[in-house]
Amino acid sequence: MSETATAATAQAPHYSFFHGVERNFDKAASHTRFEKGILEQIKACNSILQMKFPVRIGDKIEVIEAFRVQHSHHKLPCKGGIRYSMDVNQDEVMALASLMTYKCAIVNVPFGGAKGGIKINPKNYTPFELEKITRRYASELVKKNFIGPGIDVPAPDYGTGAREMSWIADTYASLKPGEVDALGCVTGKPIAQGGVRGRTEATGLGVFYGVREVCNTVEDMKRIGLNTGIEGKRVIVQGLGNVGYHAAKFFYDNGAIIVGLAEYEGGIYNERGLDIYKVVEYRKTTGSLLNYPGAINIKNSAETMEQECDILIPAALENVVNAGNAARIKAKIIGEGANGPLTPEADEILNKKGAIVVPDMYLNAGGVTVSYFEWLKNLSHVRFGRMDKRFSENQNNTILKTVEGLTGKKVTDTERTLIMHGPDEVDLVYSGLEDTMIGSYHEIRESLLQNNGVQDMRTAAFICAINKVGVAYEELGIFP
Ligand code: GLU
Repeated sequence: MSETATAATAQAPHYSFFHGVERNFDKAASHTRFEKGILEQIKACNSILQMKFPVRIGDKIEVIEAFRVQHSHHKLPCKGGIRYSMDVNQDEVMALASLMTYKCAIVNVPFGGAKGGIKINPKNYTPFELEKITRRYASELVKKNFIGPGIDVPAPDYGTGAREMSWIADTYASLKPGEVDALGCVTGKPIAQGGVRGRTEATGLGVFYGVREVCNTVEDMKRIGLNTGIEGKRVIVQGLGNVGYHAAKFFYDNGAIIVGLAEYEGGIYNERGLDIYKVVEYRKTTGSLLNYPGAINIKNSAETMEQECDILIPAALENVVNAGNAARIKAKIIGEGANGPLTPEADEILNKKGAIVVPDMYLNAGGVTVSYFEWLKNLSHVRFGRMDKRFSENQNNTILKTVEGLTGKKVTDTERTLIMHGPDEVDLVYSGLEDTMIGSYHEIRESLLQNNGVQDMRTAAFICAINKVGVAYEELGIFP
């Protein structure tokens, strides 16, 4: 499955996504101590590669347009996904690359930001044709020195997944024979090709951990008039791709009520709750969400986001909540699963309404966080848990036996299994991600409380990011 969803967007015409990001940056920059030159350097895209290459499709030659933007080299490698979409353009890739820099800084992942895009609709090509396009794109990146475990490490994004990443890894490795760390040139790979367990669901799981932490923060819930805890919260998820689907699943499994779901063909709503597993099965069989038993149909997909709920998760593409519909959004918590789903105007409207907008550069950072773990695994050439799983189990067994001996009581078999369990790779990945999402939320909250006049989490998150990237630039020293 591809990294993000396929829901339709309501794009405002001629809207520059990159300028939107710059606007948010400027708002936050005034709360930092850095001189103008450093701020300009942080904001700028360091390297932009625009490519056009021919690929034979059927009996014709097609000229494919593609990009890779490295936004920041303050830490290397650069990191960020590759998307396949007809909406790909330089402005979009620049904006997404810059968001990656801030995202990595916020979750303390030591990479600069990058993003790639190929302007194609992947649905119009056979897997064989997609493989040719992907391999050609990867070899263009190699030719220009735009890929490598220490240079720039792509990953899945909208319209791409593990399959495309394995083609990229294989192309890279075959062009760099003997490079021992070659598998670290791309993340989001299948497990058999050096991927890490937990990467597929990582972004959705990170969205869940992040929103759960917001809901567990008593003062924040008081301010918006909701009870603490995730249980019983009414959630609408827009987009059922990799991010939206997994986020919805984790909300559902942990006691939230999924009241609304939206995809490009329309949305469904049921105030008593939807069973995410059954809905996904239903959509697989019928090809649509519409007419799901017991739910109300919402023909205009975007209107699903305007229904009654506590939490809205836009998890598809950018600009879906804009000046046109923001005032009608009823959710008190808006969790940005996608990159840039709110325009700056929408952000302002929702913040004025008193909602908590949990920004993309924090909330969807689960993907890149687990990509970081995958990259570490590739460089260390060992599966997480291989060295310590059995050791922990033996230790736990000794402790358990000692306690049983001292108390004269025995635990049940289920309790024994739970207590003994040493960490597998997936356990370590999940706990690393959980810790990251909880820690970073409180860093952003601190920045919100410490900076007088800052009212919203996005500005607070930008302040955190600018401070970290700015210090890195200062420490690097500026060329005289
Ligand atoms: N495409 C994802 C993002 O936008 C993941 C990037 C990565 O893992 O490098 O965050």
